[in-house]
Amino acid sequence: MSWSYLEDASGAKGHAEKICVPNNEEELIQVLLDAASEGVAITIAGGGSGLTGGRVPFGGWLISMEKFRRLDVHPGLATVGAGVTLHELHAAAKAANQFYPPDPTETMAFLGGTIACNSSGSRSFKYGATRRWLLRLRVALADGTIMDVRRGDPIDFDVPSIPPPASRKHSAGYQLKPGMDWIDLFCGSEGTLGIVIEADVQLLPNPAELLNGIIFFPSDEAVHNALDDWRNVPNVRMLEYVDDPALRMIEQRYPDVPKHARAAIIMEQIIETDADIDAWADRLAAAGALEAESWFGSSDFDRERFRKFRHALPETSLAISVKNGFPSLGTDFSVPIEKNREMFAFYREHMERIMPGHYCIFGHVGDAHPHVNMLPATQQEFDLGTEALMIFARKAASLGGSVSAEHGLGKRKAKFLPVQYTAEQIESMKAVKRRLDPGWRLGPGTFFELAK
Ligand SMILES: Cc1cc2nc3c(=O)[nH]c(=O)nc-3n(C[C@H](O)[C@H](O)[C@H](O)COP(=O)(O)OP(=O)(O)OC[C@H]3O[C@@H](n4cnc5c(N)ncnc54)[C@H](O)[C@@H]3O)c2cc1C
Repeated sequence: MSWSYLEDASGAKGHAEKICVPNNEEELIQVLLDAASEGVAITIAGGGSGLTGGRVPFGGWLISMEKFRRLDVHPGLATVGAGVTLHELHAAAKAANQFYPPDPTETMAFLGGTIACNSSGSRSFKYGATRRWLLRLRVALADGTIMDVRRGDPIDFDVPSIPPPASRKHSAGYQLKPGMDWIDLFCGSEGTLGIVIEADVQLLPNPAELLNGIIFFPSDEAVHNALDDWRNVPNVRMLEYVDDPALRMIEQRYPDVPKHARAAIIMEQIIETDADIDAWADRLAAAGALEAESWFGSSDFDRERFRKFRHALPETSLAISVKNGFPSLGTDFSVPIEKNREMFAFYREHMERIMPGHYCIFGHVGDAHPHVNMLPATQQEFDLGTEALMIFARKAASLGGSVSAEHGLGKRKAKFLPVQYTAEQIESMKAVKRRLDPGWRLGPGTFFELAK
């Protein structure tokens, strides 16, 4: 998939006075110096797969990082330009029998965009988010200053501690902690503090064998019971949920999905011995899964087939939103694992009330982070869905969760920042922004609404 410079995958559309595509660092610095002397706002564009309008400019200049294409793979690490796609990074790592652990589902995302959003995706169940895999960052500040920082290089000013939520995934606002390093500050700052030029990222050796499964269930209850057990299975690195409406949404592309399946879990596990594989027969029987109809595989071909099945979910729901003429309306809230059922029931009850038949739920349920994807057919449903996002944000925060687990807040979800943080905490984030970008010219409108 690809998106024009003035839009992103959420369906947000904007405008810019100029689109700049620097070929190298010198040209980037010149653009930044010119913008500084004219006092112009700058928005940074990666691959455009963001779901919050972060890279969509509302005036000023847009800088696309697509020409920053360095990709050098070494044992244990890769040096990667901001404009390299995840697809290219995964392919290059694989050719060296290694892999880059973060795996946001959309592989046309640029590495720079995934660092800006602290993206995670399906394998984050085992490997966490992008932040954990960054060893070095090269960043340009708004005034053209270049910083080259390594993991552990501390910031040179004081910040207060803002405690993170109790959920496993979190990517909303700056994560401030006294003594923190620059990498933790830039990662997740959504293009509001600096422009990522390139990064050293950690690679791991490819596991010798993986088992992949799409396991079908007769009910949601059976899925929740299975998850309580399966989260503890050693070396599971992916536990993704698909509900009945989501299965029906893609059944034209996947007619072999069992008709009586009411939900599914997409699973991936590192296999060490044959016993790891054999254990699934008992596990499926104990969980009441539709054992005979579930799909398993261990080849690259199977893995790619299952990856495409998983990717078809957001792809199709985004296409339906476009067809219906609305921007995407989806949740990105996470809660602590023990609150997963409560949040899930809250989503289901509310959505059945406001938009029955026009929504589906799928995603990273291993981390208590499913996405509710709303598919409004009328303006009234769209308005109710917009209200529901705020209701869900408040509920997630009240359960100790995050108002953005992995997509960031961008412009479309900036209103959730005060749901998560106190006015004092937001003020301390703004102080960091003023320090690094005193003219408040980088990414205006992204996660600070109508900032200044
Ligand atoms: C079908 C689909 C599935 C998805 N699944 C997942 C998923 O499983 N997990 C997940 O985490 N996300 C997912 N996403 C969201 C998206 O892929 C990520 O947010 C991704 O990180 C965005 O990267 P991008 O390069 O496309 O960024 P863009 O959309 O271009 O920009 C996103 C933000 O990053 C900033 N930015 C971009 N490049 C830079 C840079 N070099 N320096 C500083 N700031 C920069 C932009 O200003 C903007 O604020 C999905 C999206 C789609 C369309």
